[in-house]
Amino acid sequence: MNPALETLIALQQLDSAAETARRRLNELPAAATALDERIAAAEAALSAVDQRAADNQARRHALEKEVAVIDGRLARFEEHKASVKTNQEYTALLHEIEIARGSKDALEEQILILLEEADMIAAERENARQAVDAAKHEVEAARRELATKQAALEAELGRLAEARQARAAELEPALLYRYEQLLRQRRMIAVAPLDGDVCGACHVRLRPVVTQHVRQNDQIVTCDNCQRILYAPPKADPRPDSDSSNSSAQA
Ligand SMILES: [Zn+2]
Repeated sequence: MNPALETLIALQQLDSAAETARRRLNELPAAATALDERIAAAEAALSAVDQRAADNQARRHALEKEVAVIDGRLARFEEHKASVKTNQEYTALLHEIEIARGSKDALEEQILILLEEADMIAAERENARQAVDAAKHEVEAARRELATKQAALEAELGRLAEARQARAAELEPALLYRYEQLLRQRRMIAVAPLDGDVCGACHVRLRPVVTQHVRQNDQIVTCDNCQRILYAPPKADPRPDSDSSNSSAQA
């Protein structure tokens, strides 16, 4: 194989790997934001339960005040009993007492229902609090994982940059310039494999004479359509390098 072509293929592999690493690196902040949102959602659920507990308590206090008012009235009725003079007056007073007791019973029934509800809310609150703790725990572990991933990707980018620098030094400056220009203009794919008789990047059918030249791998041949540098991949190989087939499909 033409040595310059071999170097170009190696450079493309390094640049594609770096591009993938950079893309993964760029996805990390969004992943971190999603983790923050998970905690926020658990905390929002907890404060919604707290709000329901506060509402329940406020309603209970209001009912207890009403009960106190009725108790005051009942006490006054009892005092009044002694000064009642007629049977009719006495019957009327008993009737008033009965009505007041009925109202009090109804209020106390409502208070009981609210107390039962308060127990349920307390249980829900405990669940919500545990969910916040669990979310914080999981998010902490996931954050550590993200940090590890970031460090690994940065290290990989460093290694790739070093390897690239070494390979780039092997090329004529003019050819390197052309390669880098193609990279920028062609979505980071400057070198593409031949795929049958079509360009592996833009998938346009090549003229037979171009295909023939590419198959020999002994010179720099470019696609008539996309101008990418073409090469013939080894035939017997059952596609061990899935990365390069992925990247050429993106063109
Ligand atoms: Zn092409």
